Amino acid sequence: MKSANIVIIGAGAAGIAAATRLLESGFENVLLLEAENRYGGRVNTIPFADNVVDLGAQWCHGEKGNAIYELVKDLDMLQRPVITFNDYKSVRSNKEVLSEATTNALKSVVSNLIPSPEKDLKDFEGSLGTFYTEAFWRDLQHSAGIDKNVAREFFENYKKMQSSADGADNLFEVSAKGQLEYQECEGDQELNWKDKGFRSFLRLLMKANKDNAEDLGLLNKRIQYNSRVQNIDWKNSNGGARIRLWNGELIEADHIICTVSLGVLKEMHQQMFTPALPSAKCRAIDGLKLGTVDKFLMEFSEPFKPTDWPCFNMLWREEDLAELRNSDHFWLESVIGFHRVACQPNLLEAWIIGPHARHMETLLESEVLKALLWLLNKFFTFEVPEPVNFLRTHWYTNPNFRGSYSFRSMYTEELRTGSWDLATPLIDEKDGKPLLQFAGEATHPHLYSTVHGAVESGWREAQHLIDYYQDKTSQT
Ligand SMILES: Cc1cc2nc3c(=O)[nH]c(=O)nc-3n(C[C@H](O)[C@H](O)[C@H](O)COP(=O)(O)OP(=O)(O)OC[C@H]3O[C@@H](n4cnc5c(N)ncnc54)[C@H](O)[C@@H]3O)c2cc1C
Repeated sequence: MKSANIVIIGAGAAGIAAATRLLESGFENVLLLEAENRYGGRVNTIPFADNVVDLGAQWCHGEKGNAIYELVKDLDMLQRPVITFNDYKSVRSNKEVLSEATTNALKSVVSNLIPSPEKDLKDFEGSLGTFYTEAFWRDLQHSAGIDKNVAREFFENYKKMQSSADGADNLFEVSAKGQLEYQECEGDQELNWKDKGFRSFLRLLMKANKDNAEDLGLLNKRIQYNSRVQNIDWKNSNGGARIRLWNGELIEADHIICTVSLGVLKEMHQQMFTPALPSAKCRAIDGLKLGTVDKFLMEFSEPFKPTDWPCFNMLWREEDLAELRNSDHFWLESVIGFHRVACQPNLLEAWIIGPHARHMETLLESEVLKALLWLLNKFFTFEVPEPVNFLRTHWYTNPNFRGSYSFRSMYTEELRTGSWDLATPLIDEKDGKPLLQFAGEATHPHLYSTVHGAVESGWREAQHLIDYYQDKTSQT
């Protein structure tokens, strides 16, 4: 254990979890290679407005069975949700705010779309989009007096909300029965990290000094930044592995834990691995999917009015949508709505999904802001003030991510693949030595798409190495 040379590719949640677990278990040669100039990966907390914002993961989703919640529950790091996402208002593109009665009736229809996931989804062969569409129009018949156009607008927006939760471009690519693989942890789904952001959890894992941002605790001097891995020769003749970085630097390893995102694997795996990965793993990389979810953050000089609205969603009337689609602002169709942010009184956050998010990422920040102001003014009766600060994310165009988080698609079903194929370590057949292991959110069988899933996957692969060396020790 002391001499084993372990290289972890990626210093996101999975990489940090694997490295800290290994170091705490007696391994001494652990190095993290990170392509970015920071740790955290899709956890990216930065200073903004009154304190910090999270450009990636923002909430701890659930309590029971959530490894993150279990670790921090007594440490006063998390706050119960202050924004109730189900309290959203619905505003139409003619500036009409849907009445409480209509919104509640429609919310009640959509909240009952899957009365029993086990029973309703298990044998459903189609996509979640198909399932929802059939169920929505069937159930709407029992809600008298709702205008069909309004119902359609509401449902279009609802599908986008659900797509963003799944991390899919649209619900017609999400497998309905694939939903059963995901296990939601019981409890509050939007626990927030107060004014410290999600990074505070990663720093806890590292045992980093709270008052010194430079200190990385267990990982001091163990993360090599700006080190983009280009090739991994994982089965070379002397029984080890050789890693080549983008700048030509070569690094030797006895074991490699690769935690790069599914998006990076999709784009890179053919060049990245020598020899090529086995076909089952290539099938998993191909079949599992991830879409794009991006955020906009707008800081105003005072709380955005109406101040008693925690969130509002944008419903496009058919004629306004047709006009929008013919304009340069066509991509605004996929902005779902806006919401407030805990501990940030002057902030509005919005999410955008799919191909339109990817298009948005190619535009200048000033163009994006101008379009968003146009959008807000289109939906509100008053003149919307200019924000004092603005930013948006680039989870797709950044080559170190190429998307946001993974889900089970119709193509995953078609290929009969899953996280098990992605997670399977590649082992030296002669002596069972793990050569190349895979961790990261997409490798988790039930908690994919989350930080707690990524953390558990890192621990899983660390445990694999711990078990291997303990077995070896007990044999000698
Ligand atoms: C917008 C958004 C919102 C989200 N919201 C939530 C939320 O509220 N709650 C939640 O639980 N989850 C959320 N998630 C998902 C969560 O962020 C991820 O599931 C989790 O952080 C993934 O961690 P990971 O370690 O698997 O991967 P990553 O964080 O992607 O880590 C992989 C690391 O590998 C590095 N890398 C990539 N290629 C190379 C290379 N060639 N060489 C070296 N290094 C490389 C990357 O830079 C990265 O640091 C959100 C994600 C996004 C994008």
